[in-house]
Amino acid sequence: MRAIIIGGGIGGLTTALALHAAGIGAEVFESAAEIRPLGVGINLQPHAVRELSELGLGEALAGVGVATQEFVYANRFGQEIWAEPRGLAAGYHWPQYSIHRGRLQMLLWEAARVRLGDACLHAGRRLVGFRQDAAGVAARFADGSRAEGDLLVAADGIHSVVRAAFFPNEGPPKWNGALLWRATSLAPPFRTGASMVQAGHRDRKFVCYPIGTAPDGRSIVNWIGETRLPADHPWAREDWNRPGRVADVLPLFADWRFEWLDVPALIRAAEAVYEFPMVDRDPLPWWTQGRVTLLGDAAHPMYPIGSNGASQAILDARWLALQLATQPGIEAALAAYEAARRPATAAVVEANRGDGPDRVMDLVHGRAPMGFHRLESVASQAELAALVGGYKRVAGFDPATLNARESWSPPQAR
Ligand SMILES: Cc1cc2nc3c(=O)[nH]c(=O)nc-3n(C[C@H](O)[C@H](O)[C@H](O)COP(=O)(O)OP(=O)(O)OC[C@H]3O[C@@H](n4cnc5c(N)ncnc54)[C@H](O)[C@@H]3O)c2cc1C
Repeated sequence: MRAIIIGGGIGGLTTALALHAAGIGAEVFESAAEIRPLGVGINLQPHAVRELSELGLGEALAGVGVATQEFVYANRFGQEIWAEPRGLAAGYHWPQYSIHRGRLQMLLWEAARVRLGDACLHAGRRLVGFRQDAAGVAARFADGSRAEGDLLVAADGIHSVVRAAFFPNEGPPKWNGALLWRATSLAPPFRTGASMVQAGHRDRKFVCYPIGTAPDGRSIVNWIGETRLPADHPWAREDWNRPGRVADVLPLFADWRFEWLDVPALIRAAEAVYEFPMVDRDPLPWWTQGRVTLLGDAAHPMYPIGSNGASQAILDARWLALQLATQPGIEAALAAYEAARRPATAAVVEANRGDGPDRVMDLVHGRAPMGFHRLESVASQAELAALVGGYKRVAGFDPATLNARESWSPPQAR
């Protein structure tokens, strides 16, 4: 069996590695002419780290990511609403990593190159069309070349060509009116030195976490400033590398100086700022046609809330490989893949539309917009715990469930 994978992002490359581990041939076709470490920080939750660890990448990940120790919600005055340990400190068998998206992509590309061989990874190959029949599937690329295989996995991101062929009337991604500025800054370590912080509320939010350490000991801090714009603001196409300006974001957070974090100083220290509208797409009624299916952002782009976009793509990849290795045929495997992953990811898309676990901040802001003397008089721990824990269950990283569930490695690869 041979799979054609469209897209050499985190979803496509993990699919290639998972298929290879399951003894299934795969070739990756990526549109970018050269793989460069684009993007800023993302988080890999323990459920995704488990899958990459079971692919033998645990040590490599530890070398490029920061093992997140703590997660904190605060209001816009820096008053703590919720703090919890993360990763191993929270009892998971696997860490959580805050990591540069581009470095993770490079790590996966290199692992795929070594394991599958140079001949199976193709850059500069933009899919423009595909067709299938009872015997197989053929892909057509912008440079005029073609590829043939037994199945096609479309991991070509939020502007997926395959998704557009499946659903020609869908239109562009949906914007919820929020605009994000993303950047990295060098700054003194804060809190544990490996803490992820979210402060504010739905309409004005600041998120930051370290993704590395500079030679001088300062943290390389990934940060995101978010605000909601008027409904008539012109929509901008989602582009992860569109430059933004410090001057646009700084005034929104000018007085967010906490005892333990100086937000304006972080913003001023930005190396380069990128601007990104908060977009997603509606969950789909189906993902698969015959030998062709969708995966990752092509299947379920979601708001970057709850840090699950890349993690869910990794789960898709592993579950797909397990089905292809264990089901009686390709169509049965793709049906079993979709039957589990489509509802699971639709639930995360919907949860993120409701602000995901960040509802904790919205709840406290709604009841105490000017801050509080005693948090208990605003919200009970049980109420907050239910929101945070509920999201972990929806997204598949409830610690007890994750630790207890069986491996998704095919039996022959365990
Ligand atoms: C350049 C870039 C930067 C990003 N930066 C961040 C970030 O800073 N923070 C964050 O949270 N998320 C970021 N993301 C999104 C994040 O990587 C995804 O949400 C998540 O990892 C799911 O990955 P995916 O592989 O499904 O999709 P993606 O990561 O979007 O990967 C899709 C891949 O398919 C390729 N592709 C697209 N169309 C075609 C085609 N027609 N033929 C062949 N290949 C094609 C793209 O070049 C890309 O490499 C970024 C995505 C990209 C592409």
